Amino acid sequence: MTPLVRAALTLRRALRGAAVLVAALGLAAAVVLDAVSPWPAMYAVVVGAVLLVILARGVTRLVRGKEPGALVEIELGALAMVGSYWLVLRADRSLGGETYPAVFVCLAVVSAFARPAASLAALTLGIGLEVAVRMLAHGEPSPIGVAPHAAFMIIFTGLNSAVLRTEIARLRSASATRLGEEIERVRTEARSFRLLGAPATKEAARQSDDDDRLLVSGVEEIHQSVLFALRLVHETLGLHTAMLLWKNDAGTHLRVSELASDATDLVEGPFLAGDGVFGAALSGGNALSLADLKPTYKLPYYPGACPVRAVCVVPVHEHGRVRGLLVADRVVDKPFTPREQAMLEEASRYAVRAIHNERVFLQLERAKVEQGKLYRAAETLGAAKTESEVIEAGVHSAREITSVDYAALTLFDEQTRTHEIRATSGDFEEGDGTARTGARFRQNTGLVSMALENRHPLPYRGAYDEKKQVVFTKHLVPPSMPSIFVLPLVAHERPLGTLVLGSRRRGAFGEAVRGTLEVLASHMAVSLEGARLVRRLEELATTDGLTGLLNKRAMLEVAEQKLLAAKRFGRHLSVLVTDIDHFKKVNDTYGHDVGDIIIRGLGDILRRAKRSTDAVARFGGEEFVVICEETDQAGATLLAERVRQELERTTFVAAGPGEGKTVQVTCSIGIATFPETGTTWDTLFKAADQALYASKQGGRNRVTVAAADRVHAA
Ligand code: GH3
Ligand code: MG
Ligand code: MG
Repeated sequence: MTPLVRAALTLRRALRGAAVLVAALGLAAAVVLDAVSPWPAMYAVVVGAVLLVILARGVTRLVRGKEPGALVEIELGALAMVGSYWLVLRADRSLGGETYPAVFVCLAVVSAFARPAASLAALTLGIGLEVAVRMLAHGEPSPIGVAPHAAFMIIFTGLNSAVLRTEIARLRSASATRLGEEIERVRTEARSFRLLGAPATKEAARQSDDDDRLLVSGVEEIHQSVLFALRLVHETLGLHTAMLLWKNDAGTHLRVSELASDATDLVEGPFLAGDGVFGAALSGGNALSLADLKPTYKLPYYPGACPVRAVCVVPVHEHGRVRGLLVADRVVDKPFTPREQAMLEEASRYAVRAIHNERVFLQLERAKVEQGKLYRAAETLGAAKTESEVIEAGVHSAREITSVDYAALTLFDEQTRTHEIRATSGDFEEGDGTARTGARFRQNTGLVSMALENRHPLPYRGAYDEKKQVVFTKHLVPPSMPSIFVLPLVAHERPLGTLVLGSRRRGAFGEAVRGTLEVLASHMAVSLEGARLVRRLEELATTDGLTGLLNKRAMLEVAEQKLLAAKRFGRHLSVLVTDIDHFKKVNDTYGHDVGDIIIRGLGDILRRAKRSTDAVARFGGEEFVVICEETDQAGATLLAERVRQELERTTFVAAGPGEGKTVQVTCSIGIATFPETGTTWDTLFKAADQALYASKQGGRNRVTVAAADRVHAA
């Protein structure tokens, strides 16, 4: 796109965006011109019609809500203002006439329904219009005459939007409170039906949205079933009221849980569980039937005079305990017969079964959700091959189970009995906590140490108090958090470490999630052990057991890569091959063990001498190979000389049978350099080997550089 086209497009977009505002200003000019010298009625009607059309279009756009509301509202505010002045000036031909309050009505509507920007635009346009009309049409010399109107308009608009906004805020907060109360009510009810365990703390009661939805639908199901049973007995037994009263958690009060009644006015409770006919039925545990009741008889759920003549109260049993009452009464003075009582008892059993079924359903549903999470966790953990992948997968899965803001993994060394913080995760500032990755600490009485020692997650029941409890050590602390949970990682009876989880939410590690987290931790421990095993196998496959340097197989791979890089970037690369002189004799004289010490010693010398980009391998026996990147013949010779001289200077002390005897050895070295001596690994290595042979031939304890066609002593 050329800059010109882009500028044209931008201009067009801006014009289209501002079209309505421009039209509003044009119409405002028309209003002023009309005030200066009145237009014929025809033109005035046309202007009014145009105004109406644009206004109507704006309103439809706003209602459809497809465009950014702010601009549309500003446009509408401006248009409405122009419209109101049009009306006032056409009707009165002045700003002091009877229709002038229309301006205030317009301002009131705009400030009530539109956002503050629109009110401000309408206000500004209104004042501008008034100034123009006064000065141009009414011939006032200065704009000062507008001041009283302007002041009123500003105060009016300001007050109107302030009052409205506070009212809206108040309504919002009231509805939020109502919503909170409603959720709490469902929870209390769910608890009384034992759908939900009693919370350890108030905060712990807050659970996930999924769980809330499950609970609401569970409580709803119970109500539907109970209502069905109550309606049935209400109809068949000709009752006035049939209701289920349920005990609260503590068992001290009863409350109406569901009812089918002809009464218009009923008290919901709570009623004292020990009082009157309720108390008698609850303590006796049997159905109680009363007849011939007087209007003065006190049935607690009727607020005024007793409207019924007979009542039957049936205790609702669950697992041998009375959990509530089924109450039936009727206006006719006809005692409840044993058959009717039996029917009410059947209805009460039906209600209990409904509650019971819902409880089982809810448990199954929760188990299903939990299993899904664990299944996904097992899958990701199974795919994790390295320690850090296991940590990442574990923390990711823990986040699915509960809200986790902080996680740390500690590993335990059984030999030294020390813990190491291997990884931490979570977005915390530098100053938050001191426990950093890499920190170590000894076994102590903190939560990490104790959880691992006792093979049990801590703190007990997830009740963490950061003032009293130590997580790592007194000085090595996690970021300050109200919830911390430490899970031991134990695989095949071996204590591997711990997973420390933290949350900014109080009660994040409640009863419902602790079990799931424990299963996750055991999955994680197994994966962690697997990752360690893989790492050890990899080490075994690539390193030499005696020196810890690369082995021949690994070196060949590294060599190919380094050679490829050297070719691509046109750099030098040198290969050193070393061999200890008369080593057989050393072995024969001092024994194989002393020989091993010397091999290891040369390995250390090479390791110290090389640069970080060089690679050293034990190629077999007492031969080593060094590959040096970006090193030409001269550089390689310097390195080789350093190694040769250092070995020559080193005195090895024999242990074992030859105890105390000192041994000194020398080595011979061959060097080949890319690209001078060869361009493939095979030719390079062969050339270096030949140079080594030349060193041996030349009297040993020396360095030889291979040339492309001839081998000469350095
Ligand atoms: P030269 O100066 O020609 O190299 O003589 P040399 O005796 O060192 O001969 P060569 O390099 O052929 O001998 C290698 C000897 O190194 C053979 C073996 O006894 C010894 N050797 C090989 N591997 C090991 C090992 O792992 N430990 C020990 N102690 N000795 C080893
Ligand atoms: Mg050898
Ligand atoms: Mg040798």
